[in-house]
Amino acid sequence: AKDAGRNAVRFFDPRMQAAVDERMAMEKALRQALEEGELCLFYQPQHDRAGRCIGAEALLRWRRPGQGLVSPMTFIPLAEETGLILPIGRWVLDTACAQLKTWAADPATRDLQLAVNVSARQFHQPDFLGQVRESLLHSGADPTRLKLELTESIVLENVEAVIERMQALKALGVSFSLDDFGTGYSSLSYLKRLLLDQLKIDKSFVQDLTTDPNDAAIVEAILAMSRSLGLQVVAEGVETSEQHAFLLAHGCDAFQGYLFGRPLPIADWRPSDAA
Ligand code: C2E
Ligand code: CA
Ligand code: CA
Ligand code: CA
Repeated sequence: AKDAGRNAVRFFDPRMQAAVDERMAMEKALRQALEEGELCLFYQPQHDRAGRCIGAEALLRWRRPGQGLVSPMTFIPLAEETGLILPIGRWVLDTACAQLKTWAADPATRDLQLAVNVSARQFHQPDFLGQVRESLLHSGADPTRLKLELTESIVLENVEAVIERMQALKALGVSFSLDDFGTGYSSLSYLKRLLLDQLKIDKSFVQDLTTDPNDAAIVEAILAMSRSLGLQVVAEGVETSEQHAFLLAHGCDAFQGYLFGRPLPIADWRPSDAA
Protein backbone atom coordinates (compact mmCIF):
# COMPACT_ATOMS: atom_id res chain seq x y z
CA ALA A 1 0.00 0.00 0.00
CA LYS A 2 2.85 2.31 0.84
CA ASP A 3 4.37 2.20 -2.65
CA ALA A 4 1.03 2.93 -4.27
CA GLY A 5 2.32 6.50 -4.21
CA ARG A 6 0.54 9.79 -3.86
CA ASN A 7 -2.63 8.59 -5.47
CA ALA A 8 -3.06 5.84 -2.90
CA VAL A 9 -6.09 7.57 -1.43
CA ARG A 10 -7.94 7.18 -4.68
CA PHE A 11 -7.96 3.42 -4.28
CA PHE A 12 -8.35 3.32 -0.54
CA ASP A 13 -12.11 3.04 -0.32
CA PRO A 14 -14.49 3.63 -3.21
CA ARG A 15 -17.15 5.02 -0.90
CA MET A 16 -14.71 7.52 0.53
CA GLN A 17 -13.74 8.53 -2.99
CA ALA A 18 -17.40 8.97 -3.85
CA ALA A 19 -17.85 11.26 -0.86
CA VAL A 20 -14.81 13.33 -1.88
CA ASP A 21 -16.12 13.60 -5.45
CA GLU A 22 -19.55 14.63 -4.23
CA ARG A 23 -18.07 17.30 -2.01
CA MET A 24 -16.04 18.72 -4.85
CA ALA A 25 -19.06 18.73 -7.13
CA MET A 26 -21.10 20.51 -4.47
CA GLU A 27 -18.37 23.08 -3.89
CA LYS A 28 -18.25 23.80 -7.60
CA ALA A 29 -22.05 24.04 -7.78
CA LEU A 30 -22.16 26.38 -4.79
CA ARG A 31 -19.50 28.64 -6.28
CA GLN A 32 -21.58 28.75 -9.45
CA ALA A 33 -24.76 29.35 -7.47
CA LEU A 34 -23.28 32.54 -6.09
CA GLU A 35 -22.17 33.72 -9.52
CA GLU A 36 -25.42 32.82 -11.27
CA GLY A 37 -27.69 34.35 -8.66
CA GLU A 38 -29.19 31.11 -7.35
CA LEU A 39 -28.87 32.21 -3.75
CA CYS A 40 -31.66 34.18 -2.15
CA LEU A 41 -32.77 35.38 1.25
CA PHE A 42 -35.98 34.38 2.97
CA TYR A 43 -37.42 36.56 5.72
CA GLN A 44 -38.94 35.32 8.96
CA PRO A 45 -40.86 37.82 11.12
CA GLN A 46 -40.10 38.68 14.72
CA HIS A 47 -42.86 39.99 16.97
CA ASP A 48 -42.80 41.94 20.21
CA ARG A 49 -44.78 41.28 23.40
CA ALA A 50 -47.75 43.25 22.09
CA GLY A 51 -47.84 41.12 18.94
CA ARG A 52 -46.45 43.77 16.64
CA CYS A 53 -44.04 42.79 13.90
CA ILE A 54 -40.72 44.47 14.74
CA GLY A 55 -38.44 42.93 12.18
CA ALA A 56 -37.20 39.82 10.51
CA GLU A 57 -34.31 37.42 10.31
CA ALA A 58 -32.75 36.93 6.89
CA LEU A 59 -32.24 33.23 6.15
CA LEU A 60 -30.23 31.98 3.22
CA ARG A 61 -31.69 29.63 0.60
CA TRP A 62 -30.28 28.07 -2.55
CA ARG A 63 -32.66 27.64 -5.46
CA ARG A 64 -30.74 24.80 -7.03
CA PRO A 65 -31.88 24.04 -10.57
CA GLY A 66 -33.60 20.68 -10.66
CA GLN A 67 -33.41 20.30 -6.87
CA GLY A 68 -35.73 22.96 -5.56
CA LEU A 69 -34.95 24.90 -2.43
CA VAL A 70 -31.81 23.75 -0.63
CA SER A 71 -31.56 24.35 3.13
CA PRO A 72 -28.53 26.24 4.48
CA MET A 73 -27.91 23.32 6.86
CA THR A 74 -26.70 21.30 3.87
CA PHE A 75 -24.34 23.87 2.37
CA ILE A 76 -23.24 26.32 5.09
CA PRO A 77 -20.83 23.81 6.70
CA LEU A 78 -19.18 23.19 3.31
CA ALA A 79 -19.14 26.91 2.62
CA GLU A 80 -17.35 27.45 5.93
CA GLU A 81 -14.75 24.75 5.27
CA THR A 82 -13.96 25.97 1.77
CA GLY A 83 -14.02 29.67 2.57
CA LEU A 84 -16.92 30.23 0.19
CA ILE A 85 -18.77 31.59 3.21
CA LEU A 86 -16.74 34.80 2.77
CA PRO A 87 -18.14 35.86 -0.63
CA ILE A 88 -21.52 34.37 0.31
CA GLY A 89 -21.59 36.28 3.60
CA ARG A 90 -20.73 39.44 1.72
CA TRP A 91 -23.58 38.85 -0.68
CA VAL A 92 -25.94 38.28 2.27
CA LEU A 93 -24.89 41.58 3.87
CA ASP A 94 -25.27 43.51 0.62
CA THR A 95 -28.66 41.98 -0.07
CA ALA A 96 -29.94 42.54 3.47
CA CYS A 97 -28.83 46.19 3.45
CA ALA A 98 -30.50 46.75 0.08
CA GLN A 99 -33.69 45.28 1.54
CA LEU A 100 -33.48 47.62 4.53
CA LYS A 101 -33.19 50.55 2.15
CA THR A 102 -36.32 49.39 0.31
CA TRP A 103 -38.18 49.02 3.61
CA ALA A 104 -37.18 52.54 4.61
CA ALA A 105 -39.28 53.99 1.78
CA ASP A 106 -42.54 52.53 3.13
CA PRO A 107 -44.12 53.68 6.43
CA ALA A 108 -45.37 50.12 7.01
CA THR A 109 -41.84 48.72 7.02
CA ARG A 110 -39.46 51.56 7.78
CA ASP A 111 -39.14 50.77 11.50
CA LEU A 112 -38.31 47.09 10.98
CA GLN A 113 -34.97 45.67 12.03
CA LEU A 114 -33.26 43.06 9.94
CA ALA A 115 -31.10 40.39 11.57
CA VAL A 116 -28.33 38.80 9.53
CA ASN A 117 -26.39 35.65 10.40
CA VAL A 118 -22.64 36.09 10.51
CA SER A 119 -20.40 33.05 10.64
CA ALA A 120 -17.34 33.09 12.90
CA ARG A 121 -15.03 32.82 9.92
CA GLN A 122 -16.69 35.80 8.30
CA PHE A 123 -16.49 37.88 11.49
CA HIS A 124 -12.78 37.14 11.88
CA GLN A 125 -11.67 38.09 8.39
CA PRO A 126 -9.47 41.19 8.50
CA ASP A 127 -11.74 43.55 6.57
CA PHE A 128 -15.08 42.54 8.03
CA LEU A 129 -15.62 46.01 9.49
CA GLY A 130 -14.89 47.54 6.09
CA GLN A 131 -17.36 45.20 4.43
CA VAL A 132 -20.18 46.09 6.78
CA ARG A 133 -19.43 49.77 6.36
CA GLU A 134 -19.41 49.39 2.58
CA SER A 135 -22.68 47.44 2.48
CA LEU A 136 -24.29 50.18 4.55
CA LEU A 137 -22.86 53.02 2.50
CA HIS A 138 -23.60 51.50 -0.88
CA SER A 139 -27.18 50.69 0.02
CA GLY A 140 -27.86 53.80 2.02
CA ALA A 141 -29.45 51.64 4.73
CA ASP A 142 -29.85 52.99 8.26
CA PRO A 143 -27.19 51.14 10.34
CA THR A 144 -29.43 51.13 13.41
CA ARG A 145 -31.84 48.82 11.54
CA LEU A 146 -29.15 46.19 10.99
CA LYS A 147 -28.57 43.49 13.57
CA LEU A 148 -25.72 41.01 13.34
CA GLU A 149 -26.37 37.55 14.75
CA LEU A 150 -23.16 36.07 16.09
CA THR A 151 -22.61 32.63 17.56
CA GLU A 152 -20.61 31.76 20.63
CA SER A 153 -17.94 30.19 18.44
CA ILE A 154 -16.60 33.65 17.60
CA VAL A 155 -15.18 33.98 21.10
CA LEU A 156 -13.20 30.74 20.83
CA GLU A 157 -10.46 32.99 19.53
CA ASN A 158 -8.98 36.09 21.09
CA VAL A 159 -11.75 37.70 23.16
CA GLU A 160 -10.04 41.08 23.31
CA ALA A 161 -9.86 41.24 19.53
CA VAL A 162 -13.51 40.24 19.27
CA ILE A 163 -14.53 43.00 21.68
CA GLU A 164 -12.47 45.56 19.82
CA ARG A 165 -14.10 44.61 16.54
CA MET A 166 -17.55 44.71 18.10
CA GLN A 167 -16.83 48.18 19.43
CA ALA A 168 -15.89 49.41 15.98
CA LEU A 169 -19.02 47.87 14.45
CA LYS A 170 -21.18 49.32 17.17
CA ALA A 171 -19.77 52.73 16.43
CA LEU A 172 -21.30 52.36 12.96
CA GLY A 173 -24.67 51.97 14.65
CA VAL A 174 -25.32 48.24 14.18
CA SER A 175 -26.47 46.00 17.03
CA PHE A 176 -25.63 42.46 18.07
CA SER A 177 -27.58 39.37 18.94
CA LEU A 178 -26.00 36.19 20.33
CA ASP A 179 -27.52 33.32 18.36
CA ASP A 180 -28.19 29.75 19.49
CA PHE A 181 -27.71 30.78 23.08
CA GLY A 182 -27.34 27.85 25.44
CA THR A 183 -26.05 25.37 22.89
CA GLY A 184 -22.41 26.39 22.80
CA TYR A 185 -19.48 27.10 25.02
CA SER A 186 -21.20 29.92 26.85
CA SER A 187 -18.95 31.42 29.33
CA LEU A 188 -21.29 33.61 31.30
CA SER A 189 -18.42 35.94 32.02
CA TYR A 190 -18.26 36.96 28.35
CA LEU A 191 -21.86 37.96 28.19
CA LYS A 192 -21.47 41.37 29.74
CA ARG A 193 -18.19 42.14 28.03
CA LEU A 194 -19.33 41.28 24.52
CA LEU A 195 -21.39 44.45 23.90
CA LEU A 196 -24.42 42.38 23.04
CA ASP A 197 -27.87 43.89 22.74
CA GLN A 198 -29.76 40.65 22.62
CA LEU A 199 -29.68 36.93 23.29
CA LYS A 200 -31.50 34.47 21.13
CA ILE A 201 -32.77 31.37 22.91
CA ASP A 202 -32.15 28.38 20.69
CA LYS A 203 -35.21 26.56 19.40
CA SER A 204 -34.03 23.30 20.95
CA PHE A 205 -34.97 24.75 24.36
CA VAL A 206 -38.22 26.25 23.15
CA GLN A 207 -39.43 23.06 21.50
CA ASP A 208 -39.89 21.04 24.72
CA LEU A 209 -40.59 23.99 26.97
CA THR A 210 -44.07 22.86 27.93
CA THR A 211 -43.23 19.15 28.33
CA ASP A 212 -39.69 19.04 29.69
CA PRO A 213 -39.18 20.66 33.12
CA ASN A 214 -35.42 20.87 32.46
CA ASP A 215 -35.92 22.97 29.36
CA ALA A 216 -38.47 25.12 31.17
CA ALA A 217 -35.95 25.72 33.96
CA ILE A 218 -33.18 26.59 31.49
CA VAL A 219 -35.38 29.07 29.66
CA GLU A 220 -36.51 30.68 32.91
CA ALA A 221 -32.90 31.00 34.00
CA ILE A 222 -31.84 32.55 30.70
CA LEU A 223 -34.69 35.07 30.93
CA ALA A 224 -33.90 35.99 34.54
CA MET A 225 -30.20 36.34 33.85
CA SER A 226 -30.79 38.44 30.74
CA ARG A 227 -33.04 40.77 32.67
CA SER A 228 -30.38 41.36 35.29
CA LEU A 229 -27.76 41.93 32.59
CA GLY A 230 -30.04 44.30 30.69
CA LEU A 231 -30.10 42.13 27.58
CA GLN A 232 -33.11 41.78 25.35
CA VAL A 233 -34.23 38.19 24.64
CA VAL A 234 -35.71 36.71 21.49
CA ALA A 235 -37.04 33.16 21.50
CA GLU A 236 -36.66 31.26 18.25
CA GLY A 237 -38.71 28.26 17.08
CA VAL A 238 -41.95 29.33 18.79
CA GLU A 239 -44.55 27.01 17.28
CA THR A 240 -47.40 26.79 19.79
CA SER A 241 -49.44 29.26 21.79
CA GLU A 242 -48.46 27.32 24.95
CA GLN A 243 -44.79 28.02 24.30
CA HIS A 244 -45.63 31.64 23.55
CA ALA A 245 -47.65 31.99 26.77
CA PHE A 246 -44.83 30.53 28.88
CA LEU A 247 -42.23 32.82 27.31
CA LEU A 248 -44.50 35.83 27.68
CA ALA A 249 -45.16 35.00 31.35
CA HIS A 250 -41.43 34.83 32.03
CA GLY A 251 -40.62 38.14 30.42
CA CYS A 252 -39.34 37.23 26.97
CA ASP A 253 -39.14 40.35 24.77
CA ALA A 254 -39.61 39.01 21.28
CA PHE A 255 -40.70 35.91 19.41
CA GLN A 256 -39.87 34.17 16.17
CA GLY A 257 -41.25 30.90 14.88
CA TYR A 258 -43.90 29.18 12.80
CA LEU A 259 -46.64 30.46 15.17
CA PHE A 260 -45.90 33.94 13.81
CA GLY A 261 -44.72 33.06 10.35
CA ARG A 262 -42.43 30.87 8.31
CA PRO A 263 -39.43 32.23 6.45
CA LEU A 264 -40.74 33.55 3.12
CA PRO A 265 -39.28 35.04 -0.05
CA ILE A 266 -39.52 38.82 -0.02
CA ALA A 267 -42.25 38.85 -2.67
CA ASP A 268 -44.56 36.97 -0.26
CA TRP A 269 -43.46 38.78 2.86
CA ARG A 270 -45.74 41.26 4.66
CA PRO A 271 -45.34 42.46 8.21
CA SER A 272 -48.54 41.62 10.07
CA ASP A 273 -49.48 42.24 13.66
CA ALA A 274 -51.34 39.09 14.63
CA ALA A 275 -49.78 36.01 16.18
P1 C2E B 1 -30.49 29.74 12.93
O1 C2E B 1 -29.77 31.03 12.75
O2 C2E B 1 -30.58 29.20 14.30
O3 C2E B 1 -31.91 29.98 12.28
C1 C2E B 1 -33.11 29.45 12.80
C2 C2E B 1 -33.58 28.26 12.03
O4 C2E B 1 -34.80 27.79 12.60
C3 C2E B 1 -33.90 28.55 10.57
O5 C2E B 1 -33.53 27.40 9.83
C4 C2E B 1 -35.43 28.71 10.59
O6 C2E B 1 -36.04 28.45 9.33
C5 C2E B 1 -35.79 27.68 11.61
N1 C2E B 1 -37.07 27.94 12.25
C6 C2E B 1 -37.69 29.13 12.40
N2 C2E B 1 -38.84 29.01 13.09
C7 C2E B 1 -38.98 27.70 13.37
C8 C2E B 1 -39.98 26.95 14.09
O7 C2E B 1 -40.98 27.48 14.58
N3 C2E B 1 -39.75 25.61 14.19
C9 C2E B 1 -38.65 25.00 13.65
N4 C2E B 1 -38.52 23.69 13.81
N5 C2E B 1 -37.69 25.70 12.99
C10 C2E B 1 -37.85 27.02 12.85
P2 C2E B 1 -32.83 27.52 8.43
O8 C2E B 1 -33.41 28.68 7.68
O9 C2E B 1 -32.83 26.18 7.80
O10 C2E B 1 -31.34 27.92 8.79
C11 C2E B 1 -30.50 27.00 9.42
C12 C2E B 1 -29.23 27.64 9.89
O11 C2E B 1 -28.42 28.03 8.77
C13 C2E B 1 -29.44 28.93 10.68
O12 C2E B 1 -29.82 28.59 11.99
C14 C2E B 1 -28.07 29.55 10.56
O13 C2E B 1 -27.19 28.99 11.48
C15 C2E B 1 -27.65 29.12 9.16
N6 C2E B 1 -27.86 30.25 8.23
C16 C2E B 1 -28.99 30.63 7.59
N7 C2E B 1 -28.77 31.72 6.83
C17 C2E B 1 -27.47 32.05 7.01
C18 C2E B 1 -26.62 33.10 6.49
O14 C2E B 1 -27.03 34.00 5.73
N8 C2E B 1 -25.31 33.10 6.90
C19 C2E B 1 -24.82 32.15 7.76
N9 C2E B 1 -23.52 32.21 8.11
N10 C2E B 1 -25.58 31.18 8.26
C20 C2E B 1 -26.90 31.12 7.90
CA1 CA C 1 -29.86 33.06 13.44
CA1 CA D 1 -30.80 28.34 16.41
CA1 CA E 1 -35.19 18.53 25.93
